[in-house]
Amino acid sequence: MSQQVNNIGITASRGTSAGASTVVLNETRLDVPFTIVNVASTAAACVLPFFFYSRSAIIGFLVFYTITGLGLTLGYHRLFAHRGFEVPKWLEYVIAIAGYLAIQRGPIFWVSMHRLHHRYSDIPGRDPHTPREGLLHVHFGWHQRRRRDVWDTEIYRKLTPDLMQDPFYRFLDNERRDYLTYFGILIVSYLTGGLIGGLQASPFQFDTYNAMCFFVWVGLLNRVAVLHAFGFINSVCHEFGSRPYKTAGADTSVNNLLVALIIFGEGWHNNHHAHQRSARHGLRWYQWDPAWYCIWFLEKTGLAHKVYVPGR
Ligand SMILES: [Zn+2]
Ligand SMILES: [Zn+2]
Repeated sequence: MSQQVNNIGITASRGTSAGASTVVLNETRLDVPFTIVNVASTAAACVLPFFFYSRSAIIGFLVFYTITGLGLTLGYHRLFAHRGFEVPKWLEYVIAIAGYLAIQRGPIFWVSMHRLHHRYSDIPGRDPHTPREGLLHVHFGWHQRRRRDVWDTEIYRKLTPDLMQDPFYRFLDNERRDYLTYFGILIVSYLTGGLIGGLQASPFQFDTYNAMCFFVWVGLLNRVAVLHAFGFINSVCHEFGSRPYKTAGADTSVNNLLVALIIFGEGWHNNHHAHQRSARHGLRWYQWDPAWYCIWFLEKTGLAHKVYVPGR
């Protein structure tokens, strides 16, 4: 039985001709199209790389993982969600597109969901993805069985008035467009692999095997890998690791080196929960944080400013 929730800063009742009716904010519904695409592409991404692989496809995967991973960590997370630094508008758009290509929705949805995570860290039914509701919930459940206050457009958009002012970010806040972009990535990956493989033949001949390698590694596997790398931040980094900072409330965030290694320094998650606005998550010199190194480089070249790091 659903319980009514009305303290996320939004109005939980809507007027009807018969009077006000209550909206149950933590009601869930299974998103069938997404579940089919997600489960099928995840299964394919786990099996097909063993049958289709090439050096150029693996390099393509690493490049695309870096672009999309930094788009999310440096961009969606540290720039948009927490405003840890500022960049010129053109660069902000480039970073937003890099993050969007990970197919984790546009910045408005992602940032709204993430602000809820910080507001209600590890409170079941309130945090969008706490491991207190199970690891399966964190890695699959929360974006397949969708809770209204996380996924309802009218509700989550109220959490991002800053991003809602920008027509480009509103343009990206459209799930049909996400599907089109995803299928576009699959087609472009296939064509790119075929062309790259074809250039190695003389005369040129479209390489259908390398096309499939790119389809699998760059198209299928990248989305799944980045999605679950973020899943590890939300599961492992709220379960297994060290807690140098005693964060408030139910928050059980921890630091985890392995997660920092696979997803650009985001594994220093307890540091982040303690200093949410900090553009730097690896606060010690030995804490590997490539997203921060990129922000530092942007600052040194004059492209990033108002960079916030505690104690600096
Ligand atoms: Zn967290
Ligand atoms: Zn955060």
